[in-house]
Amino acid sequence: MSSVLEIKNLTIDYNGIKAIENLNLDFKRGKFYTILGPNGAGKSTLLKAISKNIDIMKGSIFIEAINIKDLKIKNLAKKISMVPQETSIDFDLMGEEIVLMGRIPHLKRLEKEGSNDLSIVREAMKKTNTLHLRNRSVTKMSGGEKQRIIVARALAQEAGIMLLDEPVSQLDLHNQIEIMNIIRNLVNKEGLTAICVLHDINLAVNYSDEILIMKSGSLISMGKPVDIIRQDIIEETYGISVKIIDNPITNKPFIIHVNI
Ligand code: ADP
Ligand code: MG
Repeated sequence: MSSVLEIKNLTIDYNGIKAIENLNLDFKRGKFYTILGPNGAGKSTLLKAISKNIDIMKGSIFIEAINIKDLKIKNLAKKISMVPQETSIDFDLMGEEIVLMGRIPHLKRLEKEGSNDLSIVREAMKKTNTLHLRNRSVTKMSGGEKQRIIVARALAQEAGIMLLDEPVSQLDLHNQIEIMNIIRNLVNKEGLTAICVLHDINLAVNYSDEILIMKSGSLISMGKPVDIIRQDIIEETYGISVKIIDNPITNKPFIIHVNI
Protein backbone atom coordinates (compact mmCIF):
# COMPACT_ATOMS: atom_id res chain seq x y z
CA MET A 1 0.00 0.00 0.00
CA SER A 2 1.45 3.36 -0.95
CA SER A 3 2.22 6.05 1.59
CA VAL A 4 0.43 9.38 1.48
CA LEU A 5 2.63 10.89 4.13
CA GLU A 6 6.11 10.00 5.27
CA ILE A 7 8.10 11.58 8.08
CA LYS A 8 11.82 10.91 7.92
CA ASN A 9 14.29 11.56 10.74
CA LEU A 10 12.32 14.61 11.83
CA THR A 11 13.83 16.79 14.54
CA ILE A 12 12.34 20.09 15.70
CA ASP A 13 13.43 22.29 18.54
CA TYR A 14 12.30 25.54 20.06
CA ASN A 15 15.38 27.61 20.91
CA GLY A 16 17.51 24.55 21.53
CA ILE A 17 14.86 22.59 23.43
CA LYS A 18 13.84 19.49 21.47
CA ALA A 19 10.10 19.06 20.83
CA ILE A 20 10.49 16.24 18.28
CA GLU A 21 13.49 13.98 18.10
CA ASN A 22 14.43 11.83 15.12
CA LEU A 23 10.85 10.79 14.35
CA ASN A 24 10.03 8.34 11.53
CA LEU A 25 6.40 7.72 10.51
CA ASP A 26 4.53 6.31 7.57
CA PHE A 27 0.83 6.97 6.87
CA LYS A 28 -1.31 5.10 4.32
CA ARG A 29 -4.25 6.44 2.34
CA GLY A 30 -7.80 6.09 3.62
CA LYS A 31 -7.12 5.38 7.27
CA PHE A 32 -8.05 7.04 10.51
CA TYR A 33 -4.96 7.65 12.65
CA THR A 34 -5.12 8.96 16.18
CA ILE A 35 -2.16 10.44 18.02
CA LEU A 36 -2.26 10.04 21.79
CA GLY A 37 0.25 11.18 24.38
CA PRO A 38 0.65 13.43 27.40
CA ASN A 39 0.82 17.22 27.20
CA GLY A 40 4.10 18.38 25.74
CA ALA A 41 4.68 15.14 23.81
CA GLY A 42 5.12 17.06 20.55
CA LYS A 43 1.76 16.20 18.97
CA SER A 44 0.82 19.75 17.96
CA THR A 45 4.39 20.43 16.85
CA LEU A 46 4.20 17.42 14.53
CA LEU A 47 0.94 18.62 12.95
CA LYS A 48 2.39 22.13 12.58
CA ALA A 49 5.45 20.69 10.84
CA ILE A 50 3.31 18.68 8.40
CA SER A 51 1.24 21.77 7.57
CA LYS A 52 4.41 23.90 7.21
CA ASN A 53 3.47 26.14 10.09
CA ILE A 54 6.83 25.61 11.71
CA ASP A 55 10.43 25.21 10.53
CA ILE A 56 11.99 21.79 10.34
CA MET A 57 15.45 21.54 11.87
CA LYS A 58 16.48 18.17 10.55
CA GLY A 59 14.81 15.51 8.43
CA SER A 60 12.07 15.69 5.81
CA ILE A 61 8.35 15.30 5.26
CA PHE A 62 6.99 13.81 2.04
CA ILE A 63 3.38 14.08 0.86
CA GLU A 64 2.64 11.70 -2.00
CA ALA A 65 6.41 11.40 -2.40
CA ILE A 66 6.88 15.19 -2.76
CA ASN A 67 9.09 16.90 -0.20
CA ILE A 68 6.94 19.61 1.39
CA LYS A 69 9.84 22.03 1.27
CA ASP A 70 9.30 22.05 -2.50
CA LEU A 71 5.56 22.76 -2.19
CA LYS A 72 4.17 26.27 -2.10
CA ILE A 73 1.70 26.81 0.76
CA LYS A 74 -1.16 27.10 -1.72
CA ASN A 75 -0.32 23.72 -3.29
CA LEU A 76 0.22 22.15 0.10
CA ALA A 77 -3.27 23.35 1.08
CA LYS A 78 -4.72 21.31 -1.78
CA LYS A 79 -3.22 18.21 -0.19
CA ILE A 80 -3.56 18.92 3.53
CA SER A 81 -6.29 20.60 5.54
CA MET A 82 -6.13 21.48 9.19
CA VAL A 83 -8.69 21.64 11.98
CA PRO A 84 -6.84 23.48 14.73
CA GLN A 85 -7.20 23.04 18.47
CA GLU A 86 -8.90 26.37 18.84
CA THR A 87 -10.12 28.66 16.14
CA SER A 88 -10.61 32.25 17.10
CA ILE A 89 -12.63 34.02 14.47
CA ASP A 90 -13.21 37.49 15.78
CA PHE A 91 -14.90 38.79 12.66
CA ASP A 92 -18.64 38.69 12.30
CA LEU A 93 -18.50 36.09 9.49
CA MET A 94 -21.41 33.93 8.39
CA GLY A 95 -21.15 30.13 8.36
CA GLU A 96 -21.03 29.92 4.60
CA GLU A 97 -18.35 32.62 4.34
CA ILE A 98 -16.10 30.61 6.66
CA VAL A 99 -16.56 27.41 4.69
CA LEU A 100 -15.86 29.34 1.48
CA MET A 101 -12.42 30.18 2.88
CA GLY A 102 -11.59 26.53 2.24
CA ARG A 103 -11.74 27.25 -1.50
CA ILE A 104 -9.01 29.94 -1.40
CA PRO A 105 -6.17 27.53 -2.35
CA HIS A 106 -8.11 26.61 -5.49
CA LEU A 107 -8.70 30.19 -6.68
CA LYS A 108 -6.31 32.34 -8.66
CA ARG A 109 -5.21 35.63 -7.18
CA LEU A 110 -8.19 38.00 -6.92
CA GLU A 111 -10.40 35.40 -8.58
CA LYS A 112 -13.92 35.25 -7.20
CA GLU A 113 -15.46 31.91 -6.30
CA GLY A 114 -17.61 30.34 -9.02
CA SER A 115 -20.64 28.08 -9.03
CA ASN A 116 -18.42 25.00 -8.74
CA ASP A 117 -16.89 26.38 -5.53
CA LEU A 118 -20.32 27.17 -4.15
CA SER A 119 -21.58 23.66 -4.82
CA ILE A 120 -18.48 22.15 -3.14
CA VAL A 121 -19.18 24.41 -0.15
CA ARG A 122 -22.81 23.32 -0.05
CA GLU A 123 -21.80 19.66 -0.20
CA ALA A 124 -19.26 20.14 2.62
CA MET A 125 -21.94 21.82 4.74
CA LYS A 126 -24.38 19.00 4.04
CA LYS A 127 -21.90 16.37 5.16
CA THR A 128 -21.18 18.24 8.38
CA ASN A 129 -24.80 19.02 9.17
CA THR A 130 -24.22 22.76 8.98
CA LEU A 131 -26.43 23.88 6.08
CA HIS A 132 -28.77 25.59 8.52
CA LEU A 133 -25.84 27.70 9.75
CA ARG A 134 -25.19 29.26 6.32
CA ASN A 135 -26.42 32.68 7.32
CA ARG A 136 -25.66 32.51 11.03
CA SER A 137 -22.82 34.63 12.39
CA VAL A 138 -19.97 32.61 13.90
CA THR A 139 -20.31 34.76 17.00
CA LYS A 140 -23.76 33.23 17.49
CA MET A 141 -22.75 29.58 17.15
CA SER A 142 -22.28 27.04 19.92
CA GLY A 143 -18.93 25.28 20.35
CA GLY A 144 -20.19 22.20 18.52
CA GLU A 145 -21.66 24.20 15.64
CA LYS A 146 -18.50 26.24 15.23
CA GLN A 147 -16.34 23.12 15.19
CA ARG A 148 -18.53 21.50 12.53
CA ILE A 149 -18.19 24.67 10.42
CA ILE A 150 -14.40 24.46 10.78
CA VAL A 151 -14.52 20.81 9.66
CA ALA A 152 -16.70 21.89 6.71
CA ARG A 153 -14.10 24.51 5.80
CA ALA A 154 -11.37 21.87 5.87
CA LEU A 155 -13.56 19.58 3.76
CA ALA A 156 -14.20 22.29 1.16
CA GLN A 157 -10.44 22.40 0.67
CA GLU A 158 -10.73 18.96 -0.98
CA ALA A 159 -7.41 17.81 0.45
CA GLY A 160 -6.75 14.09 0.81
CA ILE A 161 -5.25 14.43 4.27
CA MET A 162 -7.01 16.12 7.19
CA LEU A 163 -5.06 17.01 10.34
CA LEU A 164 -7.13 17.56 13.47
CA ASP A 165 -5.61 18.84 16.71
CA GLU A 166 -7.84 17.92 19.66
CA PRO A 167 -10.97 18.68 17.63
CA VAL A 168 -13.37 17.50 20.32
CA SER A 169 -11.61 18.50 23.54
CA GLN A 170 -13.94 21.43 24.17
CA LEU A 171 -17.15 19.65 23.22
CA ASP A 172 -19.86 17.78 25.12
CA LEU A 173 -20.29 14.04 24.49
CA HIS A 174 -23.02 14.42 21.88
CA ASN A 175 -20.96 16.86 19.84
CA GLN A 176 -17.79 14.76 20.28
CA ILE A 177 -19.53 11.75 18.76
CA GLU A 178 -21.05 13.84 15.98
CA ILE A 179 -17.65 15.20 14.89
CA MET A 180 -16.00 11.79 15.16
CA ASN A 181 -18.77 10.18 13.08
CA ILE A 182 -18.39 12.83 10.39
CA ILE A 183 -14.64 12.23 10.13
CA ARG A 184 -15.00 8.43 10.22
CA ASN A 185 -17.57 8.64 7.38
CA LEU A 186 -15.23 10.72 5.26
CA VAL A 187 -12.49 8.14 5.78
CA ASN A 188 -14.81 5.24 4.89
CA LYS A 189 -16.65 6.78 1.97
CA GLU A 190 -14.19 9.22 0.43
CA GLY A 191 -10.81 7.71 1.20
CA LEU A 192 -9.77 10.63 3.39
CA THR A 193 -6.67 10.09 5.52
CA ALA A 194 -7.38 11.56 8.96
CA ILE A 195 -4.63 12.26 11.49
CA CYS A 196 -6.28 13.31 14.70
CA VAL A 197 -4.89 14.22 18.12
CA LEU A 198 -7.18 13.06 20.92
CA HIS A 199 -6.94 12.71 24.69
CA ASP A 200 -9.76 10.25 25.23
CA ILE A 201 -8.25 6.78 24.82
CA ASN A 202 -11.61 4.99 24.59
CA LEU A 203 -12.78 7.39 21.89
CA ALA A 204 -9.52 6.76 20.01
CA VAL A 205 -10.00 2.99 20.22
CA ASN A 206 -13.54 3.20 18.84
CA TYR A 207 -12.72 5.36 15.83
CA SER A 208 -9.13 4.66 14.79
CA ASP A 209 -7.61 2.19 12.40
CA GLU A 210 -4.25 2.90 13.98
CA ILE A 211 -3.09 4.65 17.12
CA LEU A 212 0.25 6.38 17.62
CA ILE A 213 1.49 7.06 21.11
CA MET A 214 4.00 9.87 21.51
CA LYS A 215 5.99 10.98 24.51
CA SER A 216 8.86 13.47 24.84
CA GLY A 217 9.05 14.03 21.09
CA SER A 218 9.37 10.35 20.23
CA LEU A 219 7.09 7.58 19.05
CA ILE A 220 6.43 5.07 21.81
CA SER A 221 4.26 2.75 19.75
CA MET A 222 2.10 2.63 16.62
CA GLY A 223 -0.40 0.03 15.43
CA LYS A 224 -3.94 -1.30 15.71
CA PRO A 225 -5.79 -0.22 18.88
CA VAL A 226 -5.88 -3.79 20.18
CA ASP A 227 -2.08 -4.03 19.95
CA ILE A 228 -1.33 -0.58 21.33
CA ILE A 229 -3.79 -0.07 24.18
CA ARG A 230 -2.00 -2.32 26.66
CA GLN A 231 -1.66 -1.83 30.37
CA ASP A 232 2.15 -1.59 30.30
CA ILE A 233 2.24 0.96 27.46
CA ILE A 234 -0.47 3.21 28.94
CA GLU A 235 0.93 3.09 32.49
CA GLU A 236 4.44 3.86 31.25
CA THR A 237 3.26 6.68 28.97
CA TYR A 238 0.98 8.49 31.40
CA GLY A 239 2.35 7.42 34.78
CA ILE A 240 -1.03 6.17 36.00
CA SER A 241 -2.51 2.82 37.01
CA VAL A 242 -5.05 1.35 34.62
CA LYS A 243 -6.87 -1.84 33.82
CA ILE A 244 -7.72 -2.77 30.25
CA ILE A 245 -10.83 -4.87 29.78
CA ASP A 246 -12.62 -6.17 26.69
CA ASN A 247 -15.53 -3.93 25.83
CA PRO A 248 -18.34 -6.49 25.53
CA ILE A 249 -20.20 -4.40 22.94
CA THR A 250 -17.34 -3.53 20.58
CA ASN A 251 -14.90 -6.32 21.49
CA LYS A 252 -12.23 -3.65 21.60
CA PRO A 253 -10.00 -2.73 24.53
CA PHE A 254 -11.59 -0.46 27.12
CA ILE A 255 -9.47 1.45 29.62
CA ILE A 256 -10.41 1.93 33.25
CA HIS A 257 -8.46 4.21 35.59
CA VAL A 258 -7.81 2.51 38.87
CA ASN A 259 -5.98 5.06 41.01
CA ILE A 260 -8.99 7.17 41.94
P1 ADP B 1 1.54 18.56 22.68
O1 ADP B 1 0.73 19.09 21.56
O2 ADP B 1 1.83 17.10 22.58
O3 ADP B 1 0.96 18.91 24.01
P2 ADP B 1 3.51 20.49 21.78
O4 ADP B 1 3.88 20.06 20.42
O5 ADP B 1 2.59 21.65 21.90
O6 ADP B 1 2.98 19.24 22.62
O7 ADP B 1 4.84 20.85 22.57
C1 ADP B 1 6.00 20.04 22.58
C2 ADP B 1 7.08 20.71 23.38
O8 ADP B 1 7.50 21.90 22.74
C3 ADP B 1 6.64 21.11 24.78
O9 ADP B 1 7.72 20.90 25.66
C4 ADP B 1 6.32 22.58 24.65
O10 ADP B 1 6.55 23.26 25.85
C5 ADP B 1 7.29 23.02 23.59
N1 ADP B 1 6.76 24.13 22.77
C6 ADP B 1 5.64 24.08 22.01
N2 ADP B 1 5.45 25.24 21.36
C7 ADP B 1 6.47 26.05 21.72
C8 ADP B 1 6.85 27.39 21.38
N3 ADP B 1 6.13 28.14 20.52
N4 ADP B 1 7.98 27.89 21.94
C9 ADP B 1 8.72 27.15 22.79
N5 ADP B 1 8.43 25.87 23.16
C10 ADP B 1 7.33 25.34 22.63
MG1 MG C 1 -1.12 20.07 21.54
